[in-house]
Amino acid sequence: MMRLDKFLAHAGLGTRKEVKQLIRSKRIKVNGQLVRNDDLKIDETNDVVLLDDEAVSYEKYIYMMLNKPAGVISATFDEKQATVMDCFDQYIPMDAFPVGRLDIDTEGLLLITNDGALAHELLAPKKHVDKIYYVKVAKAITQAAIEALEAGIQINEEECCEPAAVRQISDDEMELTIHEGKFHQIKRMMHAVGNEVVYLKRLQMGSLKLDESLACGEYRPLSEAEIHALK
Ligand code: URA
Repeated sequence: MMRLDKFLAHAGLGTRKEVKQLIRSKRIKVNGQLVRNDDLKIDETNDVVLLDDEAVSYEKYIYMMLNKPAGVISATFDEKQATVMDCFDQYIPMDAFPVGRLDIDTEGLLLITNDGALAHELLAPKKHVDKIYYVKVAKAITQAAIEALEAGIQINEEECCEPAAVRQISDDEMELTIHEGKFHQIKRMMHAVGNEVVYLKRLQMGSLKLDESLACGEYRPLSEAEIHALK
């Protein structure tokens, strides 16, 4: 059982406040009956909910692609700083979270979901899911740096990265494919080759590509095909 306003918000019809307005404007029916009170409890799997006589479907999981802007942290809650969850102006279930972390100054693809099994598939180190980043560095990229990154660079006394794939775009820009998700990995890889990241953006994670029509801070639900391809 679930409150009707929560159900409607969860189905993507707006914020809790907006969906209450839909109920007050007599646009919602449950099992053929016009509803007037938003705290009505419904059976989300069996009751038939209509908006303007069209069926509203309830999704168990949400999958949102966010083009993360710089300045927000990859967490669900923080006392002091804005989080990626603050980018959403529609209802997002309480149990949704960002799949993996991007640094505060990193932009680009971030999947927000409450599908824990999928998140595990994407993040488990053993799965070696490819992550592709656009990297801009401070100094010209040398051939020796490319070779070192492709061979698997040592980033400190104990840690060595797996071989990465480099696609050089210009003197100081590249696309870098990595399979792990070590803390500050790309920044540390660039340090190890005597360079420094000045801008970092994630473009792809597994089969999921950042939708370039999303401006920084914008989001959209994944398509059925995108969800299917990730699983
Ligand atoms: N590597 C980094 O250094 N930072 C990120 O945000 C992602 C990968």
